[in-house]
Amino acid sequence: MLIVLKPGATEDQKRSLVATAEGGGFRVHPVPDSSRRLIVTSERRAPDPAAFIAQPGVADARRTSHGYELASREVHPGGSVVQVGGVPVGGPGFVIISGPCAVESREQTLAVARQVRAAGAHILRGGAFKPRTSPYSFQGLGEDGLKILAEAREQTGLPVITEALDVEHVEMVAEYADAIQIGSRNMHNFPLLKRAGRAHKPVMLKRGFAATLEELLMAAEYILAEGNSDVMLCERGIRAFSDFSRNTLDLSVVPAAKALTHLPIIVDPSHAAGRRDLVAPLARAAAAVGADGVMVEVQDDPDSALCDSTQALTPRLFAALVADVGRVAASVDRPLLSRQSPRA
Ligand code: PEP
Ligand code: MN
Repeated sequence: MLIVLKPGATEDQKRSLVATAEGGGFRVHPVPDSSRRLIVTSERRAPDPAAFIAQPGVADARRTSHGYELASREVHPGGSVVQVGGVPVGGPGFVIISGPCAVESREQTLAVARQVRAAGAHILRGGAFKPRTSPYSFQGLGEDGLKILAEAREQTGLPVITEALDVEHVEMVAEYADAIQIGSRNMHNFPLLKRAGRAHKPVMLKRGFAATLEELLMAAEYILAEGNSDVMLCERGIRAFSDFSRNTLDLSVVPAAKALTHLPIIVDPSHAAGRRDLVAPLARAAAAVGADGVMVEVQDDPDSALCDSTQALTPRLFAALVADVGRVAASVDRPLLSRQSPRA
């Protein structure tokens, strides 16, 4: 249920409203950036607006039908902007996230970080904990990988996003990184979502490859309900019957999500395509369809990469992608985010 307070509602009126709701067994969630809106939830029974509408200071109380109360655009019509180490995601500037699939070594990561920085990336990605299909594939460097990412941030000034594969990684990832990624395979890992909701870093939630938009928004709600309001979504391709790409990029989810939620949405054409030649066209399409940014995998020497070598762009191809995406983004009034303080 959404409660909207009157413009002149006092702090005392708000406090007594919260006390009434909590006394009735409900949970009250403040809406970030809006001191006049509250969300009231319960795991057991839906709160009744009639019990709240007559209370002093209340302008409106209404049931929301969808269940993703905090993620709903209704509570935040203007859309939210998530700050990733000072980079605004969801604002007027289109954001480019890039880096290797996995942190394989210090040399590899620092080299790619410098190259994507030079080509115009705003945020560095790289996995230290890798969700691999085979247990015999490279699983990531763990905490050593996080230290390398922190050094890459130090050298390039780019904030860092990296995946927490498990509840027990969240604290460590939050300590080193500027944002926590929850991978496609973990979109339904509810203990992990709840733990990320208690972390003090933004979270990028990737859509499960068989998840509906509603399920994605409900998963985001788990994070928001724990008090973390800095959530970004990511479309990374779903499993369909086509056999020419690794997954099928569902670009229609971008405008559909924009209508339902205030959360920013990033598109990952690399994991969707699984093929180098499809990444740039899909990235351009993502900009055209209204995404807030793209996430693209880059390797210095893709053929020798330990993970996702067939989809990684070379730094040269990535530079061309940034220029092309920039033109498309500008044409839909969403120019690439400008970088204020370039570092080498
Ligand atoms: C990744 O971005 O590193 C990744 C593993 O992606 P996904 O969870 O979408 O497969
Ligand atoms: Mn990858």
